[in-house]
Amino acid sequence: MLLDAPRSALRAAELPAPVPGSGQLLIRVRACGVCRTDLHVVDGDLAEAKLPLIPGHEIVGEVMERGAGAERFHIGERVGVPWLGYTCGTCHYCKSGRENLCDNARFTGYHIDGGYAEYTLADERYCFVIPEGYDDVAAAPLLCAGLIGYRSLVMAGDARRLGIYGFGAAAHIVAQVARHQGRELYAFTRPGDARAQAFAGELGAAWVGDSVTAPPAPLDAAIIFAPVGPLVVAALRATAKGGTVVCAGIHMSEIPAFPYGILWGERVIRSVANLTRRDGEEFLALAPQVPVKTSVEVLRLDQANEALARLREGRITGAAVLVP
Ligand SMILES: [Zn+2]
Ligand SMILES: [Zn+2]
Repeated sequence: MLLDAPRSALRAAELPAPVPGSGQLLIRVRACGVCRTDLHVVDGDLAEAKLPLIPGHEIVGEVMERGAGAERFHIGERVGVPWLGYTCGTCHYCKSGRENLCDNARFTGYHIDGGYAEYTLADERYCFVIPEGYDDVAAAPLLCAGLIGYRSLVMAGDARRLGIYGFGAAAHIVAQVARHQGRELYAFTRPGDARAQAFAGELGAAWVGDSVTAPPAPLDAAIIFAPVGPLVVAALRATAKGGTVVCAGIHMSEIPAFPYGILWGERVIRSVANLTRRDGEEFLALAPQVPVKTSVEVLRLDQANEALARLREGRITGAAVLVP
């Protein structure tokens, strides 16, 4: 499924099977999750997309061929391909353990063709082993919603009362990890979104409400998954002194001006950008222990436009996954 230009529908196209270069794997895609970042790419919110582009960066597939020097995985092995597709290894960020901030990073389904396809190529150094207890479809959302959600949760520190704004794919995974760690969960959804509120309740939220409603007690930290700038202000107002508001998305609408008083008291606002391979290894080891169970809605690869439209409208419970 090809994106020819931003703000256009994806187009089904027949392309030659790609040939793996040095260090690359040719992977037959078995499942690919649909992430909000895909929407930002398709909608042109992220401006550097390779065009035409095959989106998708939550890929679970099977190694079909290995390029020269690729020996980390064997033929037939199941691998996961995440958003982080390449880092330079030589910049200031790479050398200080922060490859997620690499100046020369390239991302799957953005700079590199991704998983809305039957076959894809990936640099084996950025691929993950998928935990055995997950089938292909259930594993796909772990690869971005899970990884980025996990990194966001780490950035929230040891907060006991944790607020989550936007209850989609990432939130439904983070909620399970947070509960496993003994945290109290406060779920904020779009006003009136009864389905998301019921879903948050099923996942053990101590309190569920609208994003405009104050929680019954101040939060120790909040994670914002919805790409909505005014939620930063709402989350700051709901957060106790010393608390952190984590903006987990790659894109957000403008944050309105707010009085200094709601930041005062050593509150912190921070973003989370991308992932490191270490985040992936830690999270994929943790997920089966929780155990994280993903809720997925499966669509055929040729329904990619429908999946994106439903995600845009908030009509996906859990995560959407495409299967070729
Ligand atoms: Zn670098
Ligand atoms: Zn993603």
